Amino acid sequence: MSVVEFLKRKIQTDGPMDIGAYMSFVLGHPEFGYYMTRDPLGKSGDFTTAPEVSQMFGEVLGAYVVHQWIKMGRSARFTLLECGPGRGTLMADMLRAGSVFPEFLQAVSVHLLETSPVLKMKQRHALGAANPVWHDDLSTVPDDAPLLVVANEFLDALPVRQFVRGLTNNQEKAWMERCVAYSDGEGFHYVTPVIPALGDQALVDEARFKAGVGEIVEVSPARAGFVQDLCALLKKTGGGALFIDYGHSKSAPGDTLQAIKGHEYCDVLEHIGDADLTAHVDFQALREVAERAGAEVSGPMEQGDFLKTMGIVERTEALKAAASEAQGLELDRELKRLSHKDEMGALFKVLGVSFSDLPSPSPSSPKS
Ligand code: SAH
Repeated sequence: MSVVEFLKRKIQTDGPMDIGAYMSFVLGHPEFGYYMTRDPLGKSGDFTTAPEVSQMFGEVLGAYVVHQWIKMGRSARFTLLECGPGRGTLMADMLRAGSVFPEFLQAVSVHLLETSPVLKMKQRHALGAANPVWHDDLSTVPDDAPLLVVANEFLDALPVRQFVRGLTNNQEKAWMERCVAYSDGEGFHYVTPVIPALGDQALVDEARFKAGVGEIVEVSPARAGFVQDLCALLKKTGGGALFIDYGHSKSAPGDTLQAIKGHEYCDVLEHIGDADLTAHVDFQALREVAERAGAEVSGPMEQGDFLKTMGIVERTEALKAAASEAQGLELDRELKRLSHKDEMGALFKVLGVSFSDLPSPSPSSPKS
């Protein structure tokens, strides 16, 4: 069976499916899901991410992680968790950058949150020497040591649901849910309005969006739940998390669900299971979740500004000093791709959360 066949049968049995369920089956069905069956990254895949563009991305994030570890009093033992580590490139680059501090490498315990068997293999290959521990969800991540978390292009893969501000037959405003239906004649197609159960309508915070009739809003209980669970864990362990993704700093109406295949956008209801599906991250909503959970939140700031603050320009110059002219030009191109406003620099945002009961710097660490 394929994911297409699975979806047809499910919709024929249960009726139209909400976009969140559609996304989670298409991407994450244990047997047929997009991520379960392939490595989607790189030139021969469907999309390219920042760590795959340049080693400098991971090196700069490595410097950030080392800085956080120093702020935690150079804790003699800590957990470094990456969510959705792809090919393991970012973690490998962070660890290499951290290796200038031998105590850092002794202290770090590498954990990976990953559901794709294909990508786990790649991660094992890239990171085997660091003895990573894999997790399917947060429930098994250790809570007995300070925790630092990095997630690049992870949240965008978690499902969103879409609601349309519609009018009922009595001309009253109501939230209708956009769903995916299937018929032999029409194939897969959207149906709205589907008036959801009252509890589901309550997922949409009216004041946040101020949407007019006909506008679509996206909400992501999956992302909010993830950030909330992670904050609960961080509250126990101390530490912090850095989320990097494309999205918007302020909640706003809009349909951002997109499909990409072979580096080209395609229709969300075409190439089902063979195209990546993502939606922009509403950073304001996640910021509020983290604040309610008691986190200190910084950002979201633009990726370009973050990388420059963390020294990516200096890193480029240092690498160029030992590079050929052609390599130097390539490094300049990579820097521009990651940080220029017209490329990844402004669309991508960085949100930091931390728990201020980080263990205070202890005079006995790191050598004791
Ligand atoms: N961070 C990497 C890869 C981004 S692609 C990079 O920047 O290159 C998204 C990653 O998240 C993949 O590793 C994918 O398998 C993983 N992923 C997607 N949904 C997930 C889920 N629900 N739980 C754990 N990992 C997930």
